Amino acid sequence: MYSAPRGVPDILPEDQVYWHYVGQKAAHICQLYGYERIDLPVFEDTRVFVKGTGDTTDIVQKEMYTFEDRGGNSVTLKPEGTPSVCRAYLEHGMQNLPQPVKLFYISPIFRYDRPQAGRYRQHYQFGCEAIGEADAFLDAEVIDMAWRFMKSLGLRKILLYINSIGCPQCRPDYLGKLRSYYKGHVNDLCPDCKIRLEKNVLRLLDCKQPGCQKIVAAAPRNVDYLCPDCTEHFAKLKEYLKMLDIPFEVNSYLVRGLDYYTRTVFEIQSEEEKAQNALGGGGRYDGLIETLGGKPTPGIGFALGIDRIILNLKKEAVDVPPIPAPQVFIASLGEPARNEAMKLAAALRQKGIGVISATSAKSLKAQLRQANNLKISKTVIIGDDEVKAGTAVLRDMFTSQQSTVKLSELPKLLK
Ligand SMILES: [Zn+2]
Ligand SMILES: [Zn+2]
Repeated sequence: MYSAPRGVPDILPEDQVYWHYVGQKAAHICQLYGYERIDLPVFEDTRVFVKGTGDTTDIVQKEMYTFEDRGGNSVTLKPEGTPSVCRAYLEHGMQNLPQPVKLFYISPIFRYDRPQAGRYRQHYQFGCEAIGEADAFLDAEVIDMAWRFMKSLGLRKILLYINSIGCPQCRPDYLGKLRSYYKGHVNDLCPDCKIRLEKNVLRLLDCKQPGCQKIVAAAPRNVDYLCPDCTEHFAKLKEYLKMLDIPFEVNSYLVRGLDYYTRTVFEIQSEEEKAQNALGGGGRYDGLIETLGGKPTPGIGFALGIDRIILNLKKEAVDVPPIPAPQVFIASLGEPARNEAMKLAAALRQKGIGVISATSAKSLKAQLRQANNLKISKTVIIGDDEVKAGTAVLRDMFTSQQSTVKLSELPKLLK
């Protein structure tokens, strides 16, 4: 017996109703906000992520599925969508289109992470990117979109946190303040944080270790060291979000763990699990396109974890509409009737009516039981007598009422 790789779930038929629901809601919100779909390759040149995501991030350091293909090229299964979208933006000359270019994707994401509920090594993200505009107006619209999407799914117990992490002008000053603060606490830091202090100070604020959390709680706040432009950008964003009635909270220690973020970062969390299980988030990445070889081009986006969203839909017992299934069952007795049943099923399907046929020669009782188990509303019964008369028995499975009808009239009747 084989099993799926550790941390890589199968998505079984009984769960597809949720995937269908989330996919439809995502496509709908994108249509409302003017985002077009882009489908990206499952793997990319490793450099797209080393450069784009950043080689000091946990993603690049510990979590990527990287391998050499048979031609000796290093490729990586996509550990996030944003650098891929930016690569495609540059490769296909989208800087020549009206800006901002608004794109969305639904894609598998691969990270060699510790598997737990809703955290898988292969999971799926719904992501949106708006590239080519720096105005806080767009930040507000993007956050509004992510928030309305989550609400449109019927999730109630969610929270929105925002922060500004400044720009290349003001961040070095803040990082200096942060570094000297942490140097005073170096002996109390977890081993990971000791490395972060050397390599990537901002990520110290991301540590979930209880010991480090205490140190985070008194750390200098980025918002107190923003340059005038960043201060104004953040003030505008908050003003717009209030105008839009989006309930947000400023979390001064939210950094989102990626090197490319500038200014706005945000995260949507489940009320119960908070930061342990963020449903997703995003931020502005005004330097990323340039890092990947383009001209300086601002951008902002978000990615939401579909697996975690579905986990929360289940926890909140959100009613999800069923995927339409066949409503007609054809039962038949004897070989001539079975032939008639096969022809009838084909004719009904051509009229757009979903049909399930009894396939093997079972008793009528067994066939009706099968129809009941499938929760089908109408069963057509054909036996030898019906074949001779060119008729069928139509049975309503809920009322058990039966009537004899002409075979030729069935498509019209059932439609
Ligand atoms: Zn700044
Ligand atoms: Zn730590």
